[in-house]
Amino acid sequence: MTLVLAGARILAGLGRLSDPATGDRRIPYRAELVDVVIDGDRIAAVVPAATAPAGAGVERIPLDGRWLLPGLWDQHVHFTQWAQTARRLDVSHASSAAEAAALVRRRAADSPDEDVIVGFGFHDALWADVPTRELLDAAAGRPVVLIAGDLHCSWLNSAAAQRFAPGSTEAVLREDASFAVTTLLAAADEATLDRWARDAARMAATRGVVGVVDLEYGWNLDVWKRRIAAGADGLRVEFGVYGDHLDRAAHLGLRTGDLVAETGGLLSVGPYKVISDGSLNTRTALCSRPYPDGGTGVANLSPGELVERMRFAVEHGLEPAVHAIGDEANRRALDAFEAIGAGGRIEHAQLIDASDIPRFARLGVVASVQPEHAMDDRDVADRLWEGRTDRAFPLAELHAAGARLAFGSDAPVAPLDPWAAIASAVGRSRDGREPWHPELCVSREVALAASVRSTVGPGQPADLAVLDRDPFGCSTDELRTMPIAATLVAGRFTHDTLR
Ligand SMILES: [Zn+2]
Repeated sequence: MTLVLAGARILAGLGRLSDPATGDRRIPYRAELVDVVIDGDRIAAVVPAATAPAGAGVERIPLDGRWLLPGLWDQHVHFTQWAQTARRLDVSHASSAAEAAALVRRRAADSPDEDVIVGFGFHDALWADVPTRELLDAAAGRPVVLIAGDLHCSWLNSAAAQRFAPGSTEAVLREDASFAVTTLLAAADEATLDRWARDAARMAATRGVVGVVDLEYGWNLDVWKRRIAAGADGLRVEFGVYGDHLDRAAHLGLRTGDLVAETGGLLSVGPYKVISDGSLNTRTALCSRPYPDGGTGVANLSPGELVERMRFAVEHGLEPAVHAIGDEANRRALDAFEAIGAGGRIEHAQLIDASDIPRFARLGVVASVQPEHAMDDRDVADRLWEGRTDRAFPLAELHAAGARLAFGSDAPVAPLDPWAAIASAVGRSRDGREPWHPELCVSREVALAASVRSTVGPGQPADLAVLDRDPFGCSTDELRTMPIAATLVAGRFTHDTLR
């Protein structure tokens, strides 16, 4: 069966035209209409409009000049947690600990059968009061776990601490202690989680997403093999390996980029993920200058340990993806890449010293960034990184220095929607506010290129997104709500309003 997407508009930098005489060539200008011929899971040809083959065995779908992009990738998600988030109590708008506790009290009254109340999204950096166990104990007589919007800390009441973190005394658990709790919550009831994951994949398809890099905590290989075997075929998934599973991955011979057998080409091995520092909201991002409270953040590993683990991973074919948010963490991560003489990715890259910007391109380190975080964190950054925000989320400078940008959401930290990331990168504004450091905005072409992994060209995977709005003729707010007419993964429709 041949599929022809007829009369599509494709972007010069993201498309190639078939040319029998000279081989493929670039699309000369972006207004040229083309027909895209799909055979099986690949693009067979891209030809001038109205010249594609027709007849029996060809399904022709007119796009009427709609924009056709390579399918979008979200290159940093925590998929299981994202799938759970829709079911969780939203505490993202609580402006104090007391307000968050009041939301828990209401939820407890509304959902008497809920065994554990799990909330998500609080940002305590700007709270005036202190989150205590007692506050949540008084709000609900059952376990309560509230997870911070940056995933780097969680606030538990006494019953939850007893069940998920026995021996702990703090109300707010940070970093590893907190990840342990979220891992336990994610382990509950696989069948339910898998069903929610399928719903989340379907939602992603409605936003034009064809693939995700899943950096969920835990052993993701078996999770996704199980989901795909059960019929989850809506997304390509590249899964990350965490430090505690590095030996296991190396022992199995998993190498970054390898396809996993019997998954229809949907599942592949992603990077080795190492969390080198904390986060801004939790004030654990490792910085060269102190926070207002005097600390400079947390290094989860010494520079020597970081190099040692990254070298081990690289020797076993696993590309390092180093979580680094503060400028000192980014410098150390770049130092480590330099020391091992291999490239990879830095996740987040939120605060970067000017002298480190050119090192990304030079060392072959991809800046895996989440532009929507800049909108979520601008007020916290203005306070905690006062005087330094001209180099916070410096996408334009990274791009100008030749660094490759890869956009993601870090869902559930931000919604799994590449159009939010694209809009934030292009406009650095949301909710009608003034743009934040507009000099660091990138062009629409750059933002789109950072959100895809293929092109609309012959031989490329038939992973495609059809847009219902001109991405160059709309406002940045309209980019945020981009309507998607159809999404295809490997030549299959995963979202379809056209037929
Ligand atoms: Zn993450």
